[in-house]
Amino acid sequence: MDRKSLFENLAAHGVRGLQPYVPGKPIDELEREYGISQSIKLASNENPLGPPASALRALNAAATQLALYPDGSGHALKQALADHFAIDPACLTLGNGSNDILVLLAESFLTPAVEAIFDQYSFVVYRLAAQAADAVIRIAPSNPAGHAQPYGHDLGAFTAMLSDRTRLIFIANPNNPTGTWISGEALYEFLKRVPAHTIVVVDEAYAEYVSCDGYPDTLGWLAQFPNLVVTRTFSKIYGLAGLRVGYAISHPDLAEILNRVRQPFNVNSLAQVAAIAALADQEFLQRARDLNRSGLAELTDAFTAMRLTVVPSIGNFVLVDLGRPAAPVYEALLRAGIIVRPVANYGFPNHLRITVGLPEQNRRLTATLRKIVEADS
Ligand SMILES: *Cc1c(COP(=O)(O)O)cnc(C)c1O
Repeated sequence: MDRKSLFENLAAHGVRGLQPYVPGKPIDELEREYGISQSIKLASNENPLGPPASALRALNAAATQLALYPDGSGHALKQALADHFAIDPACLTLGNGSNDILVLLAESFLTPAVEAIFDQYSFVVYRLAAQAADAVIRIAPSNPAGHAQPYGHDLGAFTAMLSDRTRLIFIANPNNPTGTWISGEALYEFLKRVPAHTIVVVDEAYAEYVSCDGYPDTLGWLAQFPNLVVTRTFSKIYGLAGLRVGYAISHPDLAEILNRVRQPFNVNSLAQVAAIAALADQEFLQRARDLNRSGLAELTDAFTAMRLTVVPSIGNFVLVDLGRPAAPVYEALLRAGIIVRPVANYGFPNHLRITVGLPEQNRRLTATLRKIVEADS
């Protein structure tokens, strides 16, 4: 037996056949491979403003303490979050990105004897975490293309899959890669139907970008639904994706379970101080929100003018249907120094997911895409 198949057989059952996460292409890699410069990345829903200056100052000041282990309980960051949301710090679990939290949830609650449900087109980390834990995976079919929330979560389909064995449900709101969302009314009705033995994870990685009426106030529901877990992150609007810090808000007894499997120092010390500073910098947040609102409208208008179909988004990215295979268009954009996200792995071979950038980046993207699309038709 060759080494590859030997190790494949030695791997834990859930790890066999697992396909690793494919991140957006890094700028350095593109420039190395294509021998180009001045590239831009609109592929990973990062904040085009960069990190808040307030966070950088805090991080620099804390660098002198790097010989010491971080505060493993994340006391100061938890206190800052607790004040910010007016919640008990015991409701918080800090993660090395919210990705870490999703994995902690799967490790804590999933076994081969129970089921996890998530949507057909939702964030791939749910599948990775559930599959690694060797749980039974149930995929809820998404809304059809013609729906008001095309390819979005269909909570009716989730409800139909509930069983005695359903242990974990992952809901992304808004969803990545579609940008679609679920109203407070619909989510609340759904939570009322979910039995106590089923934990509902509502992933709100983009919540701070949302400005539409009717978006759920999930934090206000935690007392009523002890099986509800809300996850948030500093990677998106707070501009700190490289530091890796996210968190869950849940019932304290559920947080206590996650704490058992959490690595003692999963959030590093620079991440903790930078997150505290960023959280206090609501001016930065407002700037990012405003920039995103106008950029999202600009991109949507430009794509629509190119006769491309845009999935309506409330996040900082947009899913565009090119009406043709997206791979050659993705390649042509790369050659022009623009990295976007192919989403064939999500089941969208004709779509690209494009992050809202700075105004000049958005214009460069739309001008380049227009040329590619026109040359092609
Ligand atoms: C980006 C993203 C995350 C967060 O990632 P972290 O950087 O690990 O916090 C979580 N969920 C969704 C849906 C995302 O798009």
